[in-house]
Formats: sequence, C-alpha cells, structure tokens
Amino acid sequence: MFYNEEFETLPREALQAMQIKRLQQVLQRVYHTVGHYKKSLDAAGVKPDDIKSLTDLRKLPFMTRSDLQNNYPFGLFAVPMSSVVRLHASAGTSGRSTVFGYTKRDVDTWSELMARSLVAAGLTKNDIVHNAFGYGLFTTGLGMHFGAEKIGASVIPMSGGNSKRQIMILQDFGPTAICCTPSYALHLAEQGGVLGVDMKALKLRVGIFGAEPCSQQVCDEIEKIYGITALNFYGLSEVMGPGIGMECLEGRNGMHIFEDHFLVETIDPQTGEVLPEGAEGELVFTTLTKEAFPLVRYRSGDISRLITDPCRCGRSHIKIERIVKRSDDMLIIRGVNVFPAQVEAVLTDIEGLEPHYQIIVDKSGALDSLELQVEVSEKTFSESGSVKELQNIERRIIKDMKDYLGVSARVKLVEPNTLQHTPGQAAKVIDKRRI
Ligand code: ADP
Ligand code: ZN
Repeated sequence: MFYNEEFETLPREALQAMQIKRLQQVLQRVYHTVGHYKKSLDAAGVKPDDIKSLTDLRKLPFMTRSDLQNNYPFGLFAVPMSSVVRLHASAGTSGRSTVFGYTKRDVDTWSELMARSLVAAGLTKNDIVHNAFGYGLFTTGLGMHFGAEKIGASVIPMSGGNSKRQIMILQDFGPTAICCTPSYALHLAEQGGVLGVDMKALKLRVGIFGAEPCSQQVCDEIEKIYGITALNFYGLSEVMGPGIGMECLEGRNGMHIFEDHFLVETIDPQTGEVLPEGAEGELVFTTLTKEAFPLVRYRSGDISRLITDPCRCGRSHIKIERIVKRSDDMLIIRGVNVFPAQVEAVLTDIEGLEPHYQIIVDKSGALDSLELQVEVSEKTFSESGSVKELQNIERRIIKDMKDYLGVSARVKLVEPNTLQHTPGQAAKVIDKRRI
C-alpha cells in the first residue's frame, strides 16, 4: 500500500534526476539567503553552480550540531518569520538548544511523509491510532498526529505518562495502532501485567516505534507480548522530525528513506570520507524540499548502512539498517536526546558545584533512569554545614535538568575529589544499559 505511489515507486533514474534538480535549487536558495551557507561554501571554494551531479555533493562542507547551536535561535532560517507557521526545538539551555522552523508547505510535506510512513505500516482511515509520543516542542508527537489525520485515521492524542490511563484507553477505545518508544511499549506492558490486563486481548494490530534504538530483540519481545507487528520509524528534528525513514510491512528489513525529499550518504565519522553503499558509517542528510530550515550535508551522528537491494514492497527508495549506535556521546533517555555537554551547562549555572560529575544511565524496569553524581565545591562542603543547603542544591539540579533538558534525574551530591577524573573530560558516562 502506498500513500503517494507515483513518487514512492519512481524509477531510480527519474528519482535521481529529480534529486539533482532539487539539490541545485536548494543550494541556490541557501547560498543567497542564509549567511552561514555563503560563508561555508565560500570557505570551501565551491559555488552552487559547481554541483552538477549527485557525486558533486561531496564537494560541499558538512554541517554539524554546533553549526546549529552557533546560529541559535533563527540564524539558519531561509525564510522570514512571517512565512514560518510552526517552531520546534530540541532540549537544552539557551544557545545549546536547536530551533527548527516550518512554513505552511513544510508542514504539509511533513504530514505527507508521515502519512506515507503510516500507510507503509498498513494503516488506513479505518484505524484508530493511540499516539503516546509527547506533544510539544519535540517533533515526534505532532509529526505522528498530523500524519495520522492526513490518512483519515482517528487519532487519540494521548501523549506520554499516566500509564494507568493509557491502559484504560487502550482497553476502552480499542485503538488498532500504537505509536511510542519501544521502551514505553514494554513499560505499558509491565503496568498492564500489574493490573491483570492481557495485552494480547487489546485490538492493537501494529506498533510504530522509534525515537530511540529498537533492537530486533526488543521488537520481537514487543511483538510477542502484544501479539502485534512492530515496525520502526526514523527521524530527527534537525532534518524534519519523524517521517524521514520507515520500515515497510512487506520488507521488514530496514527503513526506506523518502528520497524525493532527502539525500542520504554514509561517511566515515573519523575522516569524513563518503563510504561505498552498504558500508557502515554515519548518516548524513541533505533536505531537498524544505523551505524554512533547509540543511545541506548534516551529520546526524547516527550509525547505519544503506541497503540498496530492491524491496518487496515496490518502493524504489533506498533503505537504512536499524540504528543502534551513535558516532558521538549523545545519550537517549526515554526518547529524549541528552548530551553530557548540556548536562554540564546546567551544572555550571548552579553555584557551589565542582565541574566534576558522573552520569549513570540504567534501566528501571523497562524505562531508562539517569543518576547524576556531582561533586560539591570545597567551599560549599566546608561552609554549608547544613544539610538543608545541600538539599537545596540537589533540588535545583533536579528541577533544572527537568526544565531545560526534559529529563528526570536522581541526584547524589558527593564530597570534593571523590569522583574519578579523566584529564580534559568533566564527565564520565557509565551506561549500564549497554553493559
Ligand atoms: P525524536 O523525538 O524522534 O527522538 P529527535 O530529533 O529528538 O527526535 O531525536 C532524533 C534522534 O533519535 C536520532 O538522531 C536518533 O539518534 C534517534 N532515533 C530516532 N529514531 C530512531 C530509531 N528508529 N532507531 C534508533 N534511533 C532513533
Ligand atoms: Zn519496502
């Protein structure tokens, strides 16, 4: 089943001709409207006219998350704010967050790509979609919502949290599809177990999971517990949000990238060299149709492989393998991206702390948990004397982590010089989920 059969099955030659035309248009536009691109292309000695084929793409400089942060909040927008109808943002303190804008047409394109994703998962207007992704500044909740409405399905804008209520609605409203992180699906099943609910007895038929790594093993487990088909979607807000890649029901290996809207390359994360198709590397994306926030050669940090074999579903678009690795130190905590540098920015704003801390990530049941161990300064430690003051610092850290980064943290304040220090590195990350 297709949402847009013509474009999803376009023969590769026609697809590539469309890609190069769109790429040239994007380059002309960003070079003339966004200061960053003029500067970076000039520095690399390339002009938009030099890009005549898709292989010429590699002449263009990469963009990284720090380019986005350096242009906080709106420096990379290619249209005036009067043409922007929606803003989304990643977590982070001022200047460390990244902000994304959408024109009316961008929102329409995004909804279409999410509609394509849901149809690829076998959904139709007869489905009831339980959307347990958070609604708000993050892109996944609203992205899913607009896509589900576009295909005419009935959407339950559930958002995250309140597991008991989620289970009640799963039972009472009878949704046929659920969208959430894979760990949240496991968590709901755990809660269902406590309440004596048989998840297999629900009307659910398919689960659309993403926003965090979803290993084959976890997908298999979810399929077994719920008696559903578990499919993986892929997206990142910088490039658009969800709706960049989707596993199809017929293929069940890898996620199709909607190549009429995005170019994808894999590179060696160390050298930046473009890798041959099929080799494992960091995914790099170029947007081909976005108006407000176009991106050229954005390094996603996600590690995968390109799958070029024709797919059983008939889509001509390339696939990427399931993503379970990153090229950088980004952590995904309950679907929220957290960089140690962002945690550090939160901590350095709080008086009385040393810049030494440890991040310990683990699982609490099916869900991620994050503990911060932070050294208090010698001065605070010797002068505070009162437990109350230390408790205030602890409370402030918990609140700022929640407010700025969107994650709940457990905090343990420790005496000065008790944490192991690696020279040149403020934080040690212990990710017990991977051990
Ligand atoms: P989301 O709300 O979907 O997490 P963000 O922009 O906050 O969107 O995060 C995007 C990042 O989430 C990606 O770069 C990737 O690391 C991770 N991610 C998204 N979907 C998947 C997926 N299906 N498998 C693994 N990681 C994913
Ligand atoms: Zn397919």
